Amino acid sequence: MTRIVPQPGIMDIALYEGGASHLEGKTNVLKLSSNENPFGPPEAAKEAFLRAVRDLHRYPSTDHAALRHAIGEVWGLEPRRIICGVGSDEIIHFLCQAYAGPGDEVVHTEHGFAMYRISALAAGATPVEVPERERTTDVDAILAACSERTKLVFIANPNNPTGTMIGMSEIRRLAEGLPEQAILVLDGAYAEYVEGYDAGTSLIAERDNVVMTRTFSKIYGLGGLRVGWGYGPQAIIDNLNRVRGPFNLSNAALVAAEAAVRDRAWVQRCRSENARWRDWLARKLAEVGVPSDVATANFVLARFADAQEANACDEHLRSEGIIVRRVAGYKLPHCLRITVGDEASCRRVAHAIGQFKGVR
Ligand SMILES: *Cc1c(COP(=O)(O)O)cnc(C)c1O
Repeated sequence: MTRIVPQPGIMDIALYEGGASHLEGKTNVLKLSSNENPFGPPEAAKEAFLRAVRDLHRYPSTDHAALRHAIGEVWGLEPRRIICGVGSDEIIHFLCQAYAGPGDEVVHTEHGFAMYRISALAAGATPVEVPERERTTDVDAILAACSERTKLVFIANPNNPTGTMIGMSEIRRLAEGLPEQAILVLDGAYAEYVEGYDAGTSLIAERDNVVMTRTFSKIYGLGGLRVGWGYGPQAIIDNLNRVRGPFNLSNAALVAAEAAVRDRAWVQRCRSENARWRDWLARKLAEVGVPSDVATANFVLARFADAQEANACDEHLRSEGIIVRRVAGYKLPHCLRITVGDEASCRRVAHAIGQFKGVR
């Protein structure tokens, strides 16, 4: 028997499964499985990335000052209280590493994002799963699950993979009701898709127990570059910086993200295109007998009669060269998560699901 064993919790981690991107023997594959922006990043971000080739031999900035100032300017935030990471996944990781360990609990919701559990276990902490109500975050259930061991409470708003969200008054009630040693983390990966939603900025201004995480992977179309950020009370951000590697972001990532965040018109355009085709897609699916909840982000969670029908539909879509996301791993075996693509993609997937349901 080997005596070389990992830390407690590590063997409980199930490897994260990303959305598939290839289908054997298919060309013209349509990938709607990872909530990527069909329009990609703004032009200015691509140009900045290309220019970064000149600095390949240089170490990047350790304090990300230029990017933090750009984010601060665009979103009306204090740059000192922003931390940048390798995707918002890394911010989630820093939070668990800095604030939770053996004996501590990390609360997440029933259909919550997989990284909360993974990062909690990696830190040696215990993930605690709380039921949702009709695929929606249930503040009372979360408060009931909290104890003196709770260190972090993660909610994504809008949530992935459900696509639902709760209002700011509910979020405020959650922040106010948490035990005093716990931090509320608002994962705002899809915040830019919601018109008029501040992702928790005003709540963070009032309180010392709320942090938000944001990303360049979704509306900014930079998932391949891996840039995310967090914002919160100075003391918490300072502690996250203690565990952050000094060179976690490359030059190319920093300059491309900075150019992207400054392009507000791009975000505006992507948000309205997304809303238009998302609502169109949900309506078309409903017409052929595939319901979904009111979607607030850049995907639709399509519900089928049961897991068997969802899997059969997925097989049909694959035969048509379309990849969507099975979400049985999120305890939604009867659902498929479909990213909102451009107009042609939405028409193609709606048509294929219509075919599957035998309606044209
Ligand atoms: C996509 C997503 C993220 C973003 O992860 P990155 O590491 O920034 O690419 C974070 N949270 C949720 C809920 C997501 O769906």
